[in-house]
Amino acid sequence: MPTTNPTQFSGWGNNFRSLAHLFSAGSADDLQNFVNSIHSSRGALPIGLHRSYGDSALNSGGTLIDLSALHSIQIDPATGIAVVGAGVTISALERAALKHSLFPSKFFDQDL
Ligand SMILES: Cc1cc2nc3c(=O)[nH]c(=O)nc-3n(C[C@H](O)[C@H](O)[C@H](O)COP(=O)(O)OP(=O)(O)OC[C@H]3O[C@@H](n4cnc5c(N)ncnc54)[C@H](O)[C@@H]3O)c2cc1C
Repeated sequence: MPTTNPTQFSGWGNNFRSLAHLFSAGSADDLQNFVNSIHSSRGALPIGLHRSYGDSALNSGGTLIDLSALHSIQIDPATGIAVVGAGVTISALERAALKHSLFPSKFFDQDL
């Protein structure tokens, strides 16, 4: 699966920096196939928008997985339950929910 050459990343605080490969998942299947193919001892770490302050979204010598392309949002107006992709921002979820006169209030993981 294609990853970038080692690229420098930092957290929001810019106090820690490290080199890592980047894999951009285009779909859930893409992600599953990539995870199954990982052999590096440094493994792979999913990332969001790299806004955490410290090093929690860094993986020196390993791979970072960009999930921003997984941005599907399905809202059931009857139940108020939204099922979203891992790359969905709170902002995008708010905009989608407001179209149904809803606002995000509870977040939980669910096996799909
Ligand atoms: C200006 C500013 C204001 C802030 N204000 C607040 C605040 O008021 N309240 C608050 O709680 N926080 C606040 N934060 C902190 C920020 O909201 C959190 O650090 C948040 O986790 C950043 O989200 P991110 O998507 O950028 O995550 P990243 O920095 O990309 O990742 C953070 C961690 O989450 C993991 N992760 C990311 N995506 C996934 C995924 N899909 N699956 C599994 N793990 C994943 C990463 O591996 C990493 O360990 C603020 C940050 C900034 C810069």
